Amino acid sequence: MATNEDIGSSQVEISGEGYDKKCIFCKIVNKEMGTELLHSDEEISCFKDIRPGAPHHYLVVPTRHVGNCKSLSKAHVHLVERMVDTGKKILLENRVTDLSDARFGFHLPPFCSVSHLHLHVLAPASQMGLMSRLFYRLNSYWFITADQLIEHLNSKGVPN
Ligand code: AMP
Ligand code: ZN
Repeated sequence: MATNEDIGSSQVEISGEGYDKKCIFCKIVNKEMGTELLHSDEEISCFKDIRPGAPHHYLVVPTRHVGNCKSLSKAHVHLVERMVDTGKKILLENRVTDLSDARFGFHLPPFCSVSHLHLHVLAPASQMGLMSRLFYRLNSYWFITADQLIEHLNSKGVPN
Protein backbone atom coordinates (compact mmCIF):
# COMPACT_ATOMS: atom_id res chain seq x y z
CA MET A 1 0.00 0.00 0.00
CA ALA A 2 1.32 3.47 -0.88
CA THR A 3 2.17 5.66 2.06
CA ASN A 4 1.99 9.43 2.03
CA GLU A 5 5.73 9.52 1.39
CA ASP A 6 5.38 7.16 -1.61
CA ILE A 7 2.98 9.44 -3.42
CA GLY A 8 5.07 12.55 -2.83
CA SER A 9 2.42 13.99 -0.62
CA SER A 10 2.02 17.59 0.45
CA GLN A 11 1.54 18.79 3.98
CA VAL A 12 -2.16 18.14 3.41
CA GLU A 13 -1.91 14.43 2.96
CA ILE A 14 0.61 14.03 5.74
CA SER A 15 -1.50 15.92 8.25
CA GLY A 16 -4.73 14.48 6.88
CA GLU A 17 -6.24 17.86 7.59
CA GLY A 18 -5.73 20.23 4.69
CA TYR A 19 -6.50 23.34 6.71
CA ASP A 20 -3.91 25.75 8.06
CA LYS A 21 -5.68 28.02 10.52
CA LYS A 22 -3.14 30.80 9.99
CA CYS A 23 -3.63 30.78 6.20
CA ILE A 24 -5.81 33.47 4.59
CA PHE A 25 -6.52 31.33 1.51
CA CYS A 26 -7.63 28.37 3.67
CA LYS A 27 -10.08 30.77 5.30
CA ILE A 28 -11.29 32.06 1.92
CA VAL A 29 -11.93 28.61 0.43
CA ASN A 30 -13.70 27.59 3.63
CA LYS A 31 -16.01 30.61 3.20
CA GLU A 32 -14.85 32.33 6.39
CA MET A 33 -13.93 35.63 4.72
CA GLY A 34 -17.02 36.42 2.66
CA THR A 35 -14.97 36.26 -0.55
CA GLU A 36 -17.03 35.17 -3.53
CA LEU A 37 -15.86 31.80 -4.84
CA LEU A 38 -16.06 31.63 -8.63
CA HIS A 39 -15.30 27.92 -8.51
CA SER A 40 -15.26 25.48 -5.63
CA ASP A 41 -14.90 21.72 -5.60
CA GLU A 42 -13.08 19.20 -3.41
CA GLU A 43 -9.78 19.79 -5.18
CA ILE A 44 -9.80 23.33 -6.61
CA SER A 45 -11.18 26.76 -5.71
CA CYS A 46 -11.02 30.12 -7.48
CA PHE A 47 -11.63 33.72 -6.48
CA LYS A 48 -10.71 37.21 -7.71
CA ASP A 49 -7.37 38.72 -6.67
CA ILE A 50 -7.99 41.60 -4.28
CA ARG A 51 -5.32 43.70 -6.09
CA PRO A 52 -5.89 42.98 -9.77
CA GLY A 53 -2.85 43.24 -12.01
CA ALA A 54 -4.95 43.05 -15.19
CA PRO A 55 -8.61 43.64 -16.14
CA HIS A 56 -9.19 39.97 -15.24
CA HIS A 57 -7.09 38.59 -12.39
CA TYR A 58 -8.13 35.33 -10.73
CA LEU A 59 -6.39 33.14 -8.19
CA VAL A 60 -6.84 29.39 -8.57
CA VAL A 61 -5.84 27.43 -5.48
CA PRO A 62 -6.01 23.88 -4.16
CA THR A 63 -9.00 23.68 -1.81
CA ARG A 64 -6.80 21.92 0.74
CA HIS A 65 -3.67 23.69 1.91
CA VAL A 66 -0.66 22.92 -0.30
CA GLY A 67 2.58 24.88 0.09
CA ASN A 68 4.27 26.99 -2.59
CA CYS A 69 5.84 25.81 -5.87
CA LYS A 70 9.07 24.69 -4.22
CA SER A 71 7.22 22.13 -2.11
CA LEU A 72 5.79 20.36 -5.17
CA SER A 73 6.86 17.09 -6.77
CA LYS A 74 5.96 15.15 -9.90
CA ALA A 75 2.94 13.84 -8.00
CA HIS A 76 1.44 17.34 -8.15
CA VAL A 77 1.44 17.66 -11.96
CA HIS A 78 -2.20 16.61 -12.23
CA LEU A 79 -3.18 19.18 -9.58
CA VAL A 80 -1.36 21.98 -11.40
CA GLU A 81 -2.96 20.95 -14.72
CA ARG A 82 -6.39 21.02 -13.12
CA MET A 83 -5.64 24.48 -11.71
CA VAL A 84 -4.80 25.71 -15.22
CA ASP A 85 -7.94 24.11 -16.69
CA THR A 86 -10.03 25.79 -14.01
CA GLY A 87 -8.38 29.15 -14.76
CA LYS A 88 -9.23 28.75 -18.47
CA LYS A 89 -12.82 27.81 -17.62
CA ILE A 90 -13.19 30.92 -15.41
CA LEU A 91 -11.77 33.16 -18.16
CA LEU A 92 -14.22 31.74 -20.70
CA GLU A 93 -17.11 32.17 -18.25
CA ASN A 94 -16.05 35.81 -17.96
CA ARG A 95 -16.03 36.28 -21.74
CA VAL A 96 -12.26 36.21 -22.15
CA THR A 97 -11.93 34.18 -25.31
CA ASP A 98 -8.36 34.95 -26.41
CA LEU A 99 -6.47 32.56 -24.15
CA SER A 100 -3.26 33.29 -26.05
CA ASP A 101 -3.35 36.76 -24.44
CA ALA A 102 -3.62 35.38 -20.89
CA ARG A 103 -0.87 34.69 -18.37
CA PHE A 104 -0.91 31.68 -16.05
CA GLY A 105 1.83 31.45 -13.46
CA PHE A 106 3.25 31.40 -9.97
CA HIS A 107 5.55 33.59 -7.94
CA LEU A 108 8.57 31.71 -6.73
CA PRO A 109 9.59 31.89 -3.08
CA PRO A 110 10.71 34.16 -1.52
CA PHE A 111 8.51 36.30 -3.79
CA CYS A 112 5.23 34.70 -2.64
CA SER A 113 3.30 36.71 -0.08
CA VAL A 114 0.89 33.84 0.71
CA SER A 115 2.27 30.35 1.31
CA HIS A 116 -0.87 28.51 0.06
CA LEU A 117 -0.17 27.48 -3.56
CA HIS A 118 -1.93 29.88 -5.95
CA LEU A 119 -2.01 30.20 -9.71
CA HIS A 120 -2.27 33.76 -11.00
CA VAL A 121 -4.56 33.99 -14.03
CA LEU A 122 -4.24 37.38 -15.74
CA ALA A 123 -5.95 38.63 -18.89
CA PRO A 124 -5.61 40.35 -21.25
CA ALA A 125 -1.84 40.22 -20.69
CA SER A 126 -1.45 42.91 -23.35
CA GLN A 127 -3.37 45.35 -21.12
CA MET A 128 -1.22 44.86 -18.03
CA GLY A 129 0.39 48.04 -16.72
CA LEU A 130 4.09 48.60 -16.27
CA MET A 131 4.21 47.41 -12.66
CA SER A 132 2.19 44.27 -13.40
CA ARG A 133 4.41 43.44 -16.36
CA LEU A 134 7.35 43.59 -13.98
CA PHE A 135 5.58 41.72 -11.17
CA TYR A 136 4.40 38.89 -13.43
CA ARG A 137 7.35 38.98 -15.80
CA LEU A 138 8.01 35.97 -18.00
CA ASN A 139 11.40 34.29 -17.68
CA SER A 140 12.28 36.14 -14.49
CA TYR A 141 13.68 34.61 -11.34
CA TRP A 142 10.51 35.54 -9.40
CA PHE A 143 7.71 34.32 -11.74
CA ILE A 144 7.28 30.96 -13.50
CA THR A 145 4.55 30.09 -15.97
CA ALA A 146 2.33 27.09 -15.28
CA ASP A 147 3.77 25.35 -18.36
CA GLN A 148 7.30 25.88 -17.08
CA LEU A 149 6.35 24.57 -13.64
CA ILE A 150 4.73 21.44 -15.14
CA GLU A 151 7.80 20.83 -17.30
CA HIS A 152 10.04 21.25 -14.27
CA LEU A 153 7.93 18.86 -12.13
CA ASN A 154 7.83 16.27 -14.90
CA SER A 155 11.62 16.34 -15.08
CA LYS A 156 11.85 15.48 -11.39
CA GLY A 157 11.82 11.84 -10.36
CA VAL A 158 8.94 10.47 -8.31
CA PRO A 159 10.09 10.84 -4.70
CA ASN A 160 10.80 7.64 -2.78
P1 AMP B 1 1.75 36.33 -4.37
O1 AMP B 1 2.35 37.67 -4.20
O2 AMP B 1 2.12 35.63 -5.63
O3 AMP B 1 1.94 35.45 -3.15
O4 AMP B 1 0.19 36.55 -4.54
C1 AMP B 1 -0.68 36.71 -3.49
C2 AMP B 1 -1.86 37.40 -4.07
O5 AMP B 1 -2.94 37.26 -3.15
C3 AMP B 1 -1.65 38.90 -4.29
O6 AMP B 1 -1.83 39.17 -5.68
C4 AMP B 1 -2.73 39.55 -3.43
O7 AMP B 1 -3.32 40.67 -4.04
C5 AMP B 1 -3.72 38.42 -3.24
N1 AMP B 1 -4.51 38.47 -2.03
C6 AMP B 1 -4.05 38.65 -0.77
N2 AMP B 1 -5.07 38.63 0.12
C7 AMP B 1 -6.20 38.43 -0.61
C8 AMP B 1 -7.57 38.32 -0.30
N3 AMP B 1 -8.02 38.42 0.95
N4 AMP B 1 -8.45 38.11 -1.30
C9 AMP B 1 -8.03 38.01 -2.58
N5 AMP B 1 -6.74 38.11 -2.95
C10 AMP B 1 -5.84 38.32 -1.98
ZN1 ZN C 1 -3.92 27.51 3.15
